[in-house]
Amino acid sequence: NRQIILAKRPVGMPDDSNLTLQQGQVPEVGEGQVLVRTIYLSLDPYMRGRMSAAKSYAASVEEGAVMEGATVGQVVESRSGDFKQGDYVLCPGGWQEYSVNSPKMMRKLDPAQAPISTAVGVLGMPGFTAYVGLDEIGKPQKGETVVVSAAAGAVGQVVGQIAKIQGCRVVGVAGAEDKCKHVVDAYGFDACVNYKDADFRDQLKKACPDGIDVYFENVGGDTFDAVMELVNDFARIPVCGRIAHYNDTEMPQGPDRLPGFMGKVLVKRLLIKGFIQFDYAHRGPDFQRDMSAWIRDGKVHYQEDVVDGLENAVSAFQGLLQGKNRGKLLVRVGED
Ligand code: NDP
Repeated sequence: NRQIILAKRPVGMPDDSNLTLQQGQVPEVGEGQVLVRTIYLSLDPYMRGRMSAAKSYAASVEEGAVMEGATVGQVVESRSGDFKQGDYVLCPGGWQEYSVNSPKMMRKLDPAQAPISTAVGVLGMPGFTAYVGLDEIGKPQKGETVVVSAAAGAVGQVVGQIAKIQGCRVVGVAGAEDKCKHVVDAYGFDACVNYKDADFRDQLKKACPDGIDVYFENVGGDTFDAVMELVNDFARIPVCGRIAHYNDTEMPQGPDRLPGFMGKVLVKRLLIKGFIQFDYAHRGPDFQRDMSAWIRDGKVHYQEDVVDGLENAVSAFQGLLQGKNRGKLLVRVGED
């Protein structure tokens, strides 16, 4: 059972001294449990937080433990009446080839309904994050301008497409020309600007002639500052992620800009609300119904970036924190 453990907490960008591949045992299957062979491991930005000892909304992974992660796999042995050998399932298998799971943490997947990989992508946690963040906090109205950062990624691509369905002007922000082009051509965004361009702020302003009503925040950093220059009165800002800061090792330098920022929050009557997708778990059935229909009707498209082999998971994860992924990042750990 090849597995990747959190050997040592990273400072800055994690590497293979922090995340180490080792040969472990295939775990024993206890009464009521299910042994699952991993097919896909989902790589997600939140994992950087789990590697840190800092207090967060979920507990850290212990040093020496297998790295956590959602997986799609196939049941090899079941000692539960709810699952049988051969079933495809979604489970929290972690960065390893085999995992033992409790049925209450598992969901059966029907490969005839949708490709199984989508259970950790457009029809899974990232898609759900986009859906609830927009619907519960962003509340875009027809004709409004919605901006989303990390626009080509797992969450961002879905945010923009839902906002298009709702009749908004949608502007993406992404870190590469090909990503920007894909977001416009494949997902129907009205525009997408590259935050790495020297004239990014001008480009964003041109792309948002009527200002910004909803900003779906995935990154923080300079993009957030640029957006704040363009927000309209009563703009809504679902704070979903701040990936530009996940590897920060020190506080930013320079004058304290917080009073100016809070002044803007007041004068513009902004709504800025952080959320974690599981806060809205009760919306799961709505999401499954709507997203399945949108995909079936060709209103939502998606892109997956599949990396082969567990041994490449660490470099793939580094790539995620550097913008190398093209769409939802997955590792193919075993045969489909
Ligand atoms: P993505 O598939 O979008 O991959 C991450 C992307 O972030 C990269 O491709 C890159 O795109 C961008 N990025 C990386 N580093 C930086 C940087 N320094 N500055 C700006 N952009 C950067 O990941 P997800 O769609 O899975 O996640 C997007 C965000 O949503 C993350 O912040 C994540 O933590 C958050 N999230 C929050 C959830 C919640 O419940 N609140 C649930 C799921 C995700 P680019 O080329 O555009 O730079």
